Amino acid sequence: MNPEFWTIGDITRRIAAGEVTASQIVNAMTSRIANVDRSLEAFLATDSHASLRDAAEVDRKHKAGEPIGPLAGVPIALKDMIVTKGLTTTAGSKILAGWEPPYDATVVERLRAAGAVIIGKVNCDEFGMGSSTERSAFKKTVNPWDSSRVPGGSSGGSSAAVAAGLCTASLGTDTGGSIRQPAAFCGVVGLKPTYGRVSRWGIVAFASSLDQVGPITRTVADAALVLQAIAGHDPRDSTSLTAPVPVFSEGLTDGVEGLKIGLPKEYFEGAIDADVKSALEATITALKSKGAIFVDVSLPHTSLALPAYYIVAPAEASSNLARYDGIRYGKRAEATDLLELYRRTRGAGFGPEVKRRIMLGTYALRSGYYDAFYKKAQQIRALIKRDFDEAFTQCDVLLTPTTPTAAYKFGAKATPLDMYLGDIFTLACNLAGLPGLSVPCGLTSDGLPIGAQLLGKPLDEATLLRAGATIEATVGLGDKRPSGVRGIS
Ligand code: GLN
Repeated sequence: MNPEFWTIGDITRRIAAGEVTASQIVNAMTSRIANVDRSLEAFLATDSHASLRDAAEVDRKHKAGEPIGPLAGVPIALKDMIVTKGLTTTAGSKILAGWEPPYDATVVERLRAAGAVIIGKVNCDEFGMGSSTERSAFKKTVNPWDSSRVPGGSSGGSSAAVAAGLCTASLGTDTGGSIRQPAAFCGVVGLKPTYGRVSRWGIVAFASSLDQVGPITRTVADAALVLQAIAGHDPRDSTSLTAPVPVFSEGLTDGVEGLKIGLPKEYFEGAIDADVKSALEATITALKSKGAIFVDVSLPHTSLALPAYYIVAPAEASSNLARYDGIRYGKRAEATDLLELYRRTRGAGFGPEVKRRIMLGTYALRSGYYDAFYKKAQQIRALIKRDFDEAFTQCDVLLTPTTPTAAYKFGAKATPLDMYLGDIFTLACNLAGLPGLSVPCGLTSDGLPIGAQLLGKPLDEATLLRAGATIEATVGLGDKRPSGVRGIS
């Protein structure tokens, strides 16, 4: 039995038919993790005893004829920004090393209620700050397609684990692209839902007005199923939306006949790798052949998204990360007075990128500077949102590349700014609170995956998934699998 690349549908169907048990699936996955993760380095924490206990409970219920839930027996990994009761949660930071939360995040509660089995916690850039997972305080996760390259970030562990078949699905978080970009680099599907669609209760906060949780999966249909389980109002998150949640799997195969797809000209003008460009052209041709109608649109404030993001995100982070003071969470340094305790704890606990962001954010929020930086950035944000509103009067969804290049080598982005520039296509979506989906749309001549990004109207994840399913069926990776890591295939 080789369940490593089964879809959610494969698993639930086979369990229902009595062909396989949840325990067998989780057992197989656990030994695969033990084998392959030595080279992949995606996992930060596992508790195979707890995972097997949860799987046995699914099997018991199934045997007793009780309902087992839509994700029964599905092994799911969680980005280490998502708190899990009794299972270490570090956000990729030394400051939280060894912290065992006393509760589960809402999304974890919901996954468990749907019958999913939490298979472990996966690596990420420290507090989600980064685009390559190189900023994790613990380890370097490699790209399963080529181990000399980064898996993307900050949800690099989530994407690498799904691509390598070490879990069926995972959750990531996306503040400026951290679900979509690593999904593109690893050749998997990544969905950032509309801001407020999924509860942030129990998610380690990076920039609260931008953060969202979402699924990373190998197929669009699986993304729909995971989103279904985690979406919907949560009274514990004051920004959670009360809007009804549609059935995302419905209409997935309805195709794109008559769908109006906008091509924002600003996203195709800058420096884009030739392979990425031609993959996008092939995607456009494929969608046209299925009846989609393309319109040229403009998002004139696109070039301001990056500077606005790198004010808003650090400003909110500087405030959110004030809670790591050595008193309430995680590590505490030895000191004789309180100020020294703060200074030593934070000095030793945070890595350089986190310190850089805290300093940037604190600077931007200083009295006298607030109007010039934070307020200005919020005004730009309103203009960016208005650009999207205007574009969506002419089309149903927007199509862009997810990233300007495919996965790069470790250490390739020498300065922080080099790294930030890779986010140009993903940031605006968060600033405007929109849903965004990255779907594989081909390989480079070096055999590295390329992602197409679809951006949608608020709460219209369903249309993204439908268009994404067409991309998957026409120019997707099909049966192509990564082989860049020992033991993977
Ligand atoms: N790469 C971006 C950053 O470093 C986005 C990160 C994210 O979405 N968490 O801030």
